[in-house]
Amino acid sequence: MWTLQNGDLFSTIPSDLSDSMHELSIAMSIIDLVEEESERRGGAAVFAVHLKLGPLSGVVKEALISAWDLAREETVCSESKLVIQEIPITIYCTTCLAENPVESIQSLCCAACGTPSPRVITGRELEVTGLEIGG
Ligand SMILES: [Zn+2]
Repeated sequence: MWTLQNGDLFSTIPSDLSDSMHELSIAMSIIDLVEEESERRGGAAVFAVHLKLGPLSGVVKEALISAWDLAREETVCSESKLVIQEIPITIYCTTCLAENPVESIQSLCCAACGTPSPRVITGRELEVTGLEIGG
């Protein structure tokens, strides 16, 4: 008698796929949201979904796009593009007294004067900003 355990199932998932599980679950929750909106409009087709994405959101753009292509199959989003607007990181610098870009994602130091700042203004975005929806 041979039974399939959950563990056996998961061990068959290639590692490159399990690495993108995070993005896949995000893509699926975006589709849930879009489906609700489409239903509210009587099941209208969705042509594009616009998304703001910051580097500090923990989501990799390329991984999210390939997850999107998987997740949208046979949903209201099957014909829709994911349009990603990348948001740069800016911090509030207490030396310059201004919102400035950073030297690098790793350091979060002011690009103008080099002061490290914990006050992130933009760069954490992961939000749906608009839908192109048909009648
Ligand atoms: Zn500065």
